[in-house]
Amino acid sequence: MRGVRLPGDGTTETRVYDVPEPSDGEVLVKVRASGICGSDIGYIYRGYKGYVGVDGPAYRGVIAGHEPAGDIVSVGPGCRRFGVGDRVLLYHIVGCGRCPNCRSGYFINCSSAGRSSYGWQRDGGHAEYLLAAERTCIALPDELSYVDGALISCGFGTAHQGLLRIQVNGGDDLLVVGLGPVGLAAAMVARGLGARHVYGVEVSPLRQKWAMGLGFFDAVLAADDDVQSRLRDLTGGRGCSRVIECSGSTPGRSTAMAGAAEWGRVSLVGEGGRLETEVSDLLLHKQLTIFASWVTSLQDMERLAVDLVRWQLRPESIVSDRFGLDHADEAYLLAAGASAGKVVIIPTGGLND
Ligand SMILES: [Zn+2]
Ligand SMILES: [Zn+2]
Repeated sequence: MRGVRLPGDGTTETRVYDVPEPSDGEVLVKVRASGICGSDIGYIYRGYKGYVGVDGPAYRGVIAGHEPAGDIVSVGPGCRRFGVGDRVLLYHIVGCGRCPNCRSGYFINCSSAGRSSYGWQRDGGHAEYLLAAERTCIALPDELSYVDGALISCGFGTAHQGLLRIQVNGGDDLLVVGLGPVGLAAAMVARGLGARHVYGVEVSPLRQKWAMGLGFFDAVLAADDDVQSRLRDLTGGRGCSRVIECSGSTPGRSTAMAGAAEWGRVSLVGEGGRLETEVSDLLLHKQLTIFASWVTSLQDMERLAVDLVRWQLRPESIVSDRFGLDHADEAYLLAAGASAGKVVIIPTGGLND
């Protein structure tokens, strides 16, 4: 089978691998869709930078891609929940399953040395087949496509958890800062959760236009000097009761703090960079609560897949570009540069699935 790895110099490399055999507790997944994630771009594609202290050794030269969805085509001994023919998406980190964080579904925070992420420390989804731990499999509802599933497996899960932490509900005006794929996911899921108004702030004119066309935003604003006064105009002078920061940039975080209303709640989900803020007027005097949210739990990801069906929302609507495995280079170049929305690789099953 073909698989794509990331040498770390802004290129991709396709190699031929043996199709792996599932061993105890593992399933073999025929990969039907595999997302390209901003963290792969930032931490692997352009050069290897590890998460300091938390994620252990970073990329180990494996097949890349941590947002896979597909069909189970064979199962190893000891699998109890899933079988051949099941459609699945994957929670993208394999935790030990025994530590307190794993037991609460937060494989992302597994404290075991054996913790591994697909596409970072073990082979990931940019290949025709993927060996998966059964405990990371989540049923993909029939109503959702494989591309929907791939998007849930990281970005939508992360956005959803960020919104759960700030308890978005029907009385809220939500501000989304940074309208890359995670910010777009946040807007869509916020609609499902019932947010009254959703406003976006984004630097790129291309992304502003793409975001507005999706139909989830009441307004999309340029990140310029007028942004705060425009947000106050839109919210009757109050600011936004809930804010989710998805840009991962220092100015984006400042926009988030300034855009929050009194007693507001702010969720930080964008990776990297720094948080720099004036404290008295922007935080204390507004009685703000700030949440730092990293990925999600297995259970909440499972719940999101079911809720998206109930809400009749399709994550794949934020996908702007799809490529076959043979065009992974082009796909990464676009995702790292000027894509309007999410970029997805379709390893098997054709580009129309
Ligand atoms: Zn990701
Ligand atoms: Zn663990």
